[in-house]
Amino acid sequence: MARGGNALKLAPLVAEFDLIDLIRARCAIAREDVRLGIGDDAALLAVPLGQALAVSTDTLVAGVHFPQGTKSYDLGWKALAVNLSDLAAMGATPAWATLALTLPQADARWVEEFADGFAALAREFKLSLVGGDTTMGPLTITLTVHGFVNEAAALRRAGARVGDAVFVTGTLGDAAAGLRCLDKNDAAADRLLATPPGSREFLIERLNRPTPRVAQGLALRGQASACIDISDGLVADLAHVCAASGVGAEIDAAELPSSPALLGAFDADARHVLQATGGDDYELCFTAPESAASRLLGDLARSGCGATRIGRIVAAADVRVRDAQGNDLVLPRRGWEHFA
Ligand code: ADP
Ligand code: MG
Repeated sequence: MARGGNALKLAPLVAEFDLIDLIRARCAIAREDVRLGIGDDAALLAVPLGQALAVSTDTLVAGVHFPQGTKSYDLGWKALAVNLSDLAAMGATPAWATLALTLPQADARWVEEFADGFAALAREFKLSLVGGDTTMGPLTITLTVHGFVNEAAALRRAGARVGDAVFVTGTLGDAAAGLRCLDKNDAAADRLLATPPGSREFLIERLNRPTPRVAQGLALRGQASACIDISDGLVADLAHVCAASGVGAEIDAAELPSSPALLGAFDADARHVLQATGGDDYELCFTAPESAASRLLGDLARSGCGATRIGRIVAAADVRVRDAQGNDLVLPRRGWEHFA
């Protein structure tokens, strides 16, 4: 990669290996099982005996997964958060990550802030960045995370049974509302400015800095019959659980958990659409027999993020969302879909 020297560029431009050093200095958290980290042709990692390695990859593309101009600190955080969310949905304990970073230019400050956002979340989970690749091109962030889980205890999409209750952690619809806050052509944004102070900031923060529900995924092992993380929207993602399990689901719109910010900003109809079909929540949606519900809800409340019962698994082929009168909600779409 060429060195800087273009006086028009505000940020210092550096070489590929300087960028890798910046990232390494900030993100390589010491772990005993990292026998060889960033710097060689491959990392050497020790998987604990008797555990399965859980591996997941997610890509963030500028203008598709985040608005152009999103702060690089938030992107570092979010790239890790969305990947940790997948490990959480398996009930896995995070350990390592590799990062493929494609950048339009070698902007050291951008990379420093990206690495700081990544490291802030990585430290919470003692996750070590052990390798990656750095290339030039349109801004794209691909992260692969690795975690450990006892194979028999792993949470899967298949396993929901007719009669099971359906739950979600946290609140739904905040990130989708946050995205609307950022849309200057969205009339609702004006209303949001009039809601309790801090609501708009809260919703945008939920979009940019999602909280992966790792502790909750661990608490669900051995209790949930199926689990998925909500990245594309509740209906779309619960439909994956239903397809894998050969069942359907009925969701009660009135039970969908709402943050005070969302409640203050949208009427019930608009709110239910955001909660049922909005993406980027990164909450866990899971199923469990009714008999397990009270213990499970207690365990989750103690884990720092409670869950809410939102419906039930039924013998059907689809996911329906019902209003208080029992009528199906008319939804413009099921959720986010690429190539749609
Ligand atoms: P190679 O040419 O052998 O693939 P690279 O020159 O791409 O190696 O990378 C050198 C070292 O830096 C490797 O250990 C690689 O894993 C690591 N690395 C490269 N880019 C990143 C990145 N964005 N984040 C973390 N580690 C990286
Ligand atoms: Mg390379």
